[in-house]
Amino acid sequence: MASDPSVRVRFAPSPTGRLHIGGLRTALYNYLFARKHDGDFILRIEDTDRARYESGAEDDIREALSWTGLGYDEGPEQGGAYGPYRQSERTEHYHEYARELVEAGRAYYAFDTEEELDELRETHGAYDGSTRRQMRNSLTLPDEEVERLLDESDDHVIRLKVPRQESVRVEDEIRGTVSFDTSEIDDQVLVKSDGMPTYHLANIVDDHLMDISHVIRGEEWLSSTPKHVLMYDALGWEPPAFAHLPLILSPNGGKLSKRDANELGIPVYVTDYREAGYEPEALLNFLALLGWSPGTEEELFALDEMVEAFSLDRVGASGVQFDLDKLRWVNEHSVRDLSVEALAEKARPYVEDEGYEVDDDRLRTICGLVQDRIQVAPEVVTENRYFFEAPEEYEEAGVEKRWKDESADLLLAYADRLEAVDTFDTDTVEAELRDLADEKDVGAGAIIHPARLAVSGRSYGPGVFGLLAAVGKDDCIQRMRRAVEALG
Ligand code: GLU
Repeated sequence: MASDPSVRVRFAPSPTGRLHIGGLRTALYNYLFARKHDGDFILRIEDTDRARYESGAEDDIREALSWTGLGYDEGPEQGGAYGPYRQSERTEHYHEYARELVEAGRAYYAFDTEEELDELRETHGAYDGSTRRQMRNSLTLPDEEVERLLDESDDHVIRLKVPRQESVRVEDEIRGTVSFDTSEIDDQVLVKSDGMPTYHLANIVDDHLMDISHVIRGEEWLSSTPKHVLMYDALGWEPPAFAHLPLILSPNGGKLSKRDANELGIPVYVTDYREAGYEPEALLNFLALLGWSPGTEEELFALDEMVEAFSLDRVGASGVQFDLDKLRWVNEHSVRDLSVEALAEKARPYVEDEGYEVDDDRLRTICGLVQDRIQVAPEVVTENRYFFEAPEEYEEAGVEKRWKDESADLLLAYADRLEAVDTFDTDTVEAELRDLADEKDVGAGAIIHPARLAVSGRSYGPGVFGLLAAVGKDDCIQRMRRAVEALG
């Protein structure tokens, strides 16, 4: 599709906690859509729910976007022509339009007490047109009474007057036309008794005032959209285009919940992925595929390639299952693309966290050896601990298969030879081993396999000579002698 500079999309998180992985996917799809069409991508903080507000959450959201490289064009910090971008700083707009809705007869003041509401819930279930007529509100009470109540009490709310027995159609870019029966929709509170707007009012007022062209958000908001459509209509505004992204499903079935995720070892928050050492571009790549498909076999995308390939009509409507193995697979490719220096830099904090000290050169050597064998950077240490400390045990199957009667003698002879070398590098350890094999008239494998077992505790791993060189002379010799003692 040709570029469309009138495209303006927003990511509109509520700062109620750390940014969730599903939130990052929503941000990503908005970003991709904006960049694809040369449009604007806006960050708007929806912080009108003071009860659920969490300080620090906004910073977390911004840091997550910055870590992943999803840059936005307008937002609370850098500002923009449509600011401010924090809803708590925009309340006068919401009041203005709430009043307009009341004056147009499309919303009303409601004075019901908590007890009355409780009773209502018990008898009717919903606050809709049929109950509205029995309640105390500006539709049922005489004007003077309404004036008096408005003057006297702060305890009123403004509710949307949802028409009865109508069908509201939502045109969704992903789902097509979705119809809602208004009997299913309650008279949504738009302004709460504390004077703060609810999400619904603030959200549509801002989408309108900020010239948002497309609302791209999670499926959980689909059921709110008919209310929004009614409000756009009441205010005489053209609604934006809507696109509701498919649910992220748990491998156990059902929507991926925090609880489920925890049980399955799936990180929930973006910061968790960061701490677990995932590459931001791999995470984005994985999230892009969690709902969108490029229509080809291609699965690995850099961010600019995703922008190029993205379109909303390749986003599916049905839920997509979260697959951690897939993420690890994508991440593995990102790890391979790193320079050894970059991998070493990423791995260093994890190495230090485990209590190991290692200089830059050595860490780079280790990274070079394991780069193609790991899926996430921390595995430089967690899956390759023998570079940092002697193995405590020897892999049983490996011993069974590789530790032969002559292994002890050969290994001791090899250790003696290594003791005598001046330079301990890949070439010398290899030359010494091959010489010894010739001398003893055995194949190189007869020494290679026991040496690997002795030094790493395992029968597999990176090239053995590089491994020995990286472990270092003294440690290699010690470990070989120790293995002989342990394995006989
Ligand atoms: N503040 C809502 C959220 O936290 C925004 C939903 C929307 O994009 O309209 O997800």
